[in-house]
This record gives sequence, structure tokens and C-alpha cells, in this order.
Amino acid sequence: MNPLLKSSASMSNNKNSIIESEFPTSPQPVIVEEVTHYTHPKHPLKKVNLPELFTCTGCREYGYGKRFACQQCDFQLHESCASSPPILQNHPLHGQHQLVFHAKPKQAKAGISWPKCDVCNKTIKGFTFRCRACSFQMHPCCAMLSTERNFPVHPHTLKLLPTSNTSSSGTDTGILCGECKKTRSGRVYRCTVCDYHLHAVCAKNLINGLQGIDLPEKPSKIGKTTQVATQVVIEFVGSLFEGFGETIAEYLLQNIGRGRRSRRSRTNN
Ligand SMILES: [Zn+2]
Ligand SMILES: [Zn+2]
Ligand SMILES: [Zn+2]
Ligand SMILES: [Zn+2]
Ligand SMILES: [Zn+2]
Ligand SMILES: [Zn+2]
Repeated sequence: MNPLLKSSASMSNNKNSIIESEFPTSPQPVIVEEVTHYTHPKHPLKKVNLPELFTCTGCREYGYGKRFACQQCDFQLHESCASSPPILQNHPLHGQHQLVFHAKPKQAKAGISWPKCDVCNKTIKGFTFRCRACSFQMHPCCAMLSTERNFPVHPHTLKLLPTSNTSSSGTDTGILCGECKKTRSGRVYRCTVCDYHLHAVCAKNLINGLQGIDLPEKPSKIGKTTQVATQVVIEFVGSLFEGFGETIAEYLLQNIGRGRRSRRSRTNN
């Protein structure tokens, strides 16, 4: 077996990462209470559940409730971001190619022309899974979605409509969503039983704990210092990894063996 393929169990130094398997199809549910994420190696992140809105330092999207937070600095991640592996294989939304994790979006220069997520159609300003073979990319929280799934807001199974029913050009689909009661762009789920629709972006918000929460239009309205710190952290992390290879994944793949062996004795380097 290819030793590189053996490594994937979890990139979060997950204590339960003994399972030697292929790369996962999507970020796996986090069962541990504490992880060390490779984008924030200095401090462990603790799983906390706070009844307040936050902006994920990783993907820059909102979250509510459960998160992994650093106890020493202003760094917190969605569960999906904290459990993002360096590579996804056979993802239900893009099974044809391997997706590689990046801490920074491609065109992050001065905030002009942020890339857009192929699932929720929102801009990508941080963590992203990007295809090497084509232009497909998505947020880690969108990687939690699949072509068919159940959501707590609806009693029936929902199926994701093919991209041809979806507008990627920024205009909306004309389909009224049962959750936000609006028409918006991005992919859409349809009920297999009744005439209910749900935007992928609304589905993602449900996953992020945002059901029934009024989101401020611009993240800058909450916690200005958080925003600044976030930017600094992401740029710092990005530049850290740039020296090691083209992507974080490559860096990690080269270092996994070492990391796993020295996991317990790594505290003083
Ligand atoms: Zn996130
Ligand atoms: Zn920290
Ligand atoms: Zn997305
Ligand atoms: Zn692709
Ligand atoms: Zn909606
Ligand atoms: Zn239904």
C-alpha cells in the first residue's frame, strides 16, 4: 500500500485516528474534545458550545453554538473546518477528482475578485477544498453536504438538484426556499416527496448551527478586532506553509509519518 494513502485518518491529531483508511470523502464528525489543527499548531483547540454567533477563523463564514476555540488567542473553527483533512476523495459533490485543502483562497489579493463556492455560491475567503484538475472549489462546511440527505427542518429526504438547474452566474434560480423564503443563487435541494426546496447555502447554515438566526449582512459588523486578527492569522499561516511546497496537503503528506510518531513528545519544539 502506498504509505501516503495510509496517512489520512485525521489531520487534526485526533486521538481516535488509529483507523488507517483511504482519504475520507468529507470532513468527518469530530468526536474528540480537543484537537490541534495544522493551521494553528501553537495551541490546542477545545470544543466549546457557546450560545453566540462567531466568524470561523478558517473559512470566514458564520457559525453558532459548537466550535473549536483556542483558549489562548482569538482563533475558532467550525467543527467541519477543524476536522478538514488535507485531501478529500470521491466527495459526493465532486467525485471525479481529488480535492485539496487550502488555507487561503486563490485570489486573495486585496479582497478583489474572491473566488466563489461551487456549492453555496458565496465568496470563499479562507479555508477551501479546491480541485486540481478543474475549477471546482467549496467551503469545508459545504463539503459536509452530499447529494442526498435529511435536515432537521424537513421530515423527508432532500436531493440536490443537478447543476444545470442551478445558476452559478450570481442570479437566483427562481426557486423559493422553504427555509429562507427567498430565491437565491447557488445549488438547491428538492424534497423527494413533496414540493419543498432548500438552498445549499441555507443547508450549510443549518449545519453551522445558524437555524433561525438573523445574520448581519457583513461580517465586519461583529467584532472588528476578530476580523483583523483573522486576516493576520490566515496570512501568517499561509506564508508559513508556502515555503514547504505548493499546498498544505503536500507539506503534510511529507510530514505525516514524522508527525504521528512524535505527536506526544512535540510540546517543546
Ligand atoms: Zn469554518
Ligand atoms: Zn491560539
Ligand atoms: Zn460554500
Ligand atoms: Zn474537478
Ligand atoms: Zn434558502
Ligand atoms: Zn417533503
